[in-house]
Amino acid sequence: MSVRVRFAPSPTGPLHMGGVRTALYNYLFAKKHGGTFLLRIEDTDQNRYVEGAENYILKALDWCGLTPEEGVGFGGKFGPYRQSERKHLYKEYADRLIESGWAYYAFDTPEEIEAARERAKQQGLSAWQYDQGTRLSMRNSLSLAKEDVEKLLASGSFVVRFKIPSNERVDFVDLIRGEVSYDSNVLDDKVLFKSDGMPTYHLANIVDDHLMEITHVIRGEEWLPSAPLHTLMYRAFGWKAPQFAHLPLILKPSGNGKLSKRDGDKDGFPVFPLQWQDPTSGEVASGYREHGYLNDAFVNMLLMLGWNPGTDQEVFSREEMIENFSLERVIKSGARFSPEKARWFNEQYLRARSGEELAALIDLPLNTDPSYLAKLCELMKERSTLLPDWLSGTYFFEAPSTYDEKMARTKWKPETSALMGKIATLFSSIEPFEALTIETTLSEFMTNEGVGFGQVGPGLRLLLTGTGGGPAIPAIAETIGKKETLARMENGIKHLDSWV
Ligand code: GLU
Repeated sequence: MSVRVRFAPSPTGPLHMGGVRTALYNYLFAKKHGGTFLLRIEDTDQNRYVEGAENYILKALDWCGLTPEEGVGFGGKFGPYRQSERKHLYKEYADRLIESGWAYYAFDTPEEIEAARERAKQQGLSAWQYDQGTRLSMRNSLSLAKEDVEKLLASGSFVVRFKIPSNERVDFVDLIRGEVSYDSNVLDDKVLFKSDGMPTYHLANIVDDHLMEITHVIRGEEWLPSAPLHTLMYRAFGWKAPQFAHLPLILKPSGNGKLSKRDGDKDGFPVFPLQWQDPTSGEVASGYREHGYLNDAFVNMLLMLGWNPGTDQEVFSREEMIENFSLERVIKSGARFSPEKARWFNEQYLRARSGEELAALIDLPLNTDPSYLAKLCELMKERSTLLPDWLSGTYFFEAPSTYDEKMARTKWKPETSALMGKIATLFSSIEPFEALTIETTLSEFMTNEGVGFGQVGPGLRLLLTGTGGGPAIPAIAETIGKKETLARMENGIKHLDSWV
C-alpha cells in the first residue's frame, strides 16, 4: 500500500510556523516513500472561520515549495477536499455509530452542562466532564425514556456523543513516541455531530482520513490526547487505523512554554511565514518572507526544529532532506526555537546564492540595472543576514549628498585633500577598474607617501559613501565603477574642504 499523508489545517487564521513544520514533515515523509501529500481544509467549525485564511495557507505552502499532489487547489480523485463541501457525507457515519451502540444522542443545553460542572465544583470534585461516570445523570438517549428521546429528536436540537467504553486500556503505537496507552476512564464522551448538521473535528477527521485512504497521520503534539478517542473510533467503525506520529511542540526562545501566535513580533522575530493582515482588526503580523528570509533557509530552519539527522550536518538541500528524513529521528521533547539560528540559516543560504539569483528576489524602488544589482548582491551577501540589509547602503544607488559630520570633523584633515587628489589621479589610470588592482594601487601609494591606512581610508570612504562602515573600499569603488568613483571624489573633496 502506498503512503498517503495529509496536511489538514483549519482556516482559523494565518498558518503558524509550527503548522508549516507539520506540512514539511508530511511532505518529506511522502516524498521519501514515493507517496502522496494531500491538503485538506478542515473548516467545519463555522464560528472560527477566518476570511482569507485558506488563501494564506495555499500561498504559504507555495512560498515554502511544499506542493501537494492532491487537495484544495490541486484536485484529485478523493475530493472534494474542503470539509464544508463534504457536509452531506458525515451524518450517515454518525448514524452508524448510534446504531451500533458506539454513540448516543444528547440533549443537554450549555446551561445544563454548566450547572453540572458547578455542582461538581461545589462538591469539591475537580474537573467535571461528560463521561462514563456522569452521562447517566444527564439528558441523553441512554438516560431518558424512548418516547422522550423521540420527542426531543423531533424538536431537532441534539448532538451525537461518542460513548467511551469503561475500564479499558486504549493502546496505540506512535511512530515518534512508541507505545502509548490511555485509561479509557479518563476520556470524555466527545461530541461528534451537532444539531446544525455539521460534524465536529473528530468525526470529520476520522471519516475523511478513512475515505481518503490516509496511511500516516503526522500532526502536532496538541492532538496526542485525541488519539485514544480516534483509535476507539476506528475500532467502532471497523476500520484499520492509520499510523500516528505526533510532532514535538515548538518552544519559545526562553524554553518556557509553547511558541504561540501571540509571540510573533514581540522580540523582533515573526512566527508566520508570510505577512498577515487580520481582516477584522486590520492588525498586521509580520512574516519571514517580508523580513528578508529566503524560503529555503526558513524551511531548512524548520527541518532542524524537531528533527535530528544523527550527524553534524545542518544545511540540507531539498533532495538531501527527502533522502535523510525519517520519523524515527524526530525528537520527543519540545524543540526550542532560536531566532539567532534562524538568522544563521539565512546567512548560509544567502552566501550560497549567486548575485543574479539574489537580485531577482529584491524589490528595488529605483530602476536599477539588473546586472549592477547582481554585482551588488555578490558583494553584499557576505555581510548580510536578511535581504533588506542590502538596501541600507543607499550610496550604491546615488552619490552622497551629505557627509557624516563627526567623521568629517575627526578624519578630514588639512592634508587629506591633497592625498585624495593624488589618489584620484592614480585611479583614473586603472584599467580595468577592479577591486584587486585598486587595492594594490592604494597600498603602493601609501608606501610611497609614507602614510598609513588611517590617513587615507576614512577620507576615501567618506568621499565614496558619505558614511563610515560598509564593505571594503576597493569593492565599493569597483561596484559603483570608475566614472562614478572619480566624480564622487572630485565633488566630495570640494565639499569637505569648504565645510571643514
Ligand atoms: N484541523 C486540525 C488542525 O487544525 C488537524 C489535526 C489533525 O491533523 O488531525 O490542526
